[in-house]
Amino acid sequence: MADSVGEKKRVVVIGGGVAGSLIARSLQDEANVTLIDMKEYFEIPWAALRSMCDPSFAKRAVFSHSEYLPRGNVITSAAANITDTEVITAKGDKVAYDFAVIATGHSETGAYTKDEKFSQYQTDHEKIKSACSILIIGGGQTGVELAAEIAVDYPDKKVTIVHRGSMLLEFIGESASNKVVHWLKSRKVEIILGQSVDVNTAKDGVYKTSGGQTIDAECHFICIGKPIGSGWLKETVLKGSLDIHGRLMVDSNLKVKGRSNVFGIGDITDIPELKLGYLAQRHAGIAAKNIRLLMKNANDNNLNVYKPALPLSLIALGKREAVAQFYCLSCIGRLPGMIKSGDLFVGRTRKQLGLLSELQ
Ligand SMILES: Cc1cc2nc3c(=O)[nH]c(=O)nc-3n(C[C@H](O)[C@H](O)[C@H](O)COP(=O)(O)OP(=O)(O)OC[C@H]3O[C@@H](n4cnc5c(N)ncnc54)[C@H](O)[C@@H]3O)c2cc1C
Repeated sequence: MADSVGEKKRVVVIGGGVAGSLIARSLQDEANVTLIDMKEYFEIPWAALRSMCDPSFAKRAVFSHSEYLPRGNVITSAAANITDTEVITAKGDKVAYDFAVIATGHSETGAYTKDEKFSQYQTDHEKIKSACSILIIGGGQTGVELAAEIAVDYPDKKVTIVHRGSMLLEFIGESASNKVVHWLKSRKVEIILGQSVDVNTAKDGVYKTSGGQTIDAECHFICIGKPIGSGWLKETVLKGSLDIHGRLMVDSNLKVKGRSNVFGIGDITDIPELKLGYLAQRHAGIAAKNIRLLMKNANDNNLNVYKPALPLSLIALGKREAVAQFYCLSCIGRLPGMIKSGDLFVGRTRKQLGLLSELQ
C-alpha cells in the first residue's frame, strides 16, 4: 500500500449520494478524504417528488458537498477508471488511494449544478401547475409518490398512471399495493396496468398505450428507475467484481470481492435486500468502522459484519399519509404518514450530515 500524505491514509469515495456522502463525512477527521461526484451537490432523493410540486422544499434537500465536508476534498467530475492505486476522473484528475469506496448507486442525468437542479424543479412545478391532465409513466415508488403529491396538492387535476407491471409498487407485496390502488382511485387517479406508453408517438396531447388505449394529457413525467451507476467500472480492474446485473459483489465486511482495500456500499452492491437509502446509510456506517480498523492495521477477523436487512418499506402518499409494509403486514393512512410524510426525513438526513435541520 502506498504511503499516505502526512500521517493520514487517503480515502477516496466515488459517488456523493446517500451512502457516499455519509461515509465521506464520517471519515473526514481521521483520513485524508476525497469525494468524487459527477454533480456538485447532494440531494436527498426521497424529497425530489415534493420538490417538483413545491420547489421551495428543495432548498433544504439540495446542498453542496462542501457544506457537509468542510475538511475533505471534493472533485466534481464523473469517475472514469479505477486502478489498483488510483481513481481517474473524466476531466483527468488522478487521485491515489489507500482505501477506495465505490458508492455510485445511480447516475444523475441533466442537472450537475445546484442552480440547474433548482431550475429543473421550477420547470416541473410550472408544468404541473399549468396542466389540467397529467400522465405518469411508471408505477414504482417514484411514480406513485409523484401521483400522490399531485393528487393531494391539486385535487382537480386528472392524473393517470400507466405501469408495465401487473401491480403498482411490485416490491411491497399485493396487500399493500392494493391499498395504494384504492387510495389513489379514491382521489380520482386513473391506473392502467400491464401496458406501456411510447411518448415519442404522442400527438396533440393524445398518448397511445401498448394495448391501444388513448389517454389525453397536457404533460407527462417518466418515472422509471435510474440505471445502476456501475457502467464506468466495466473496463476497469473491478470488471470481474460485477455480477450479471451490473451490481458490485461485496463480502460480509462490504469489501469488494477479491479486494483488500476497496469497499462497495449502497444501491450498487449485490447485497440481497431492498435497495433503500436507510440501508445505504447502514452500509456507510459499517464500511467506515472497517476502514477505521484497517487504518489501525486490524486483522480481517476483527472487521464488522453487515447482515442484510429485513424487508421494511414506507411510501409517502402526500404530506400526511403513507403506506408501510413489514413482511406480510401492511398499513396505510395517517399513522405511517406520521413517521415519514410531513418532513420526508429531510431534517433527520441533514442532521446525519452535520447540518442544521432548518435553514438559518
Ligand atoms: C422517489 C424515491 C423515493 C425514495 N424513498 C426512500 C425512502 O423513503 N427511504 C429510503 O430509505 N430510501 C428511499 N429511496 C431509495 C434511496 O434513494 C436509494 O436507496 C439511495 O439513494 C441509494 O443511495 P446510494 O448512495 O447507493 O446511491 P445514490 O443516492 O443514487 O448516489 C449515487 C451518487 O453517485 C454519483 N455517481 C454516479 N456515477 C458516478 C460516476 N461515474 N462518477 C462520480 N459520481 C457518480 C451520483 O451523482 C450520485 O451522487 C427512494 C428513492 C426514490 C427514487
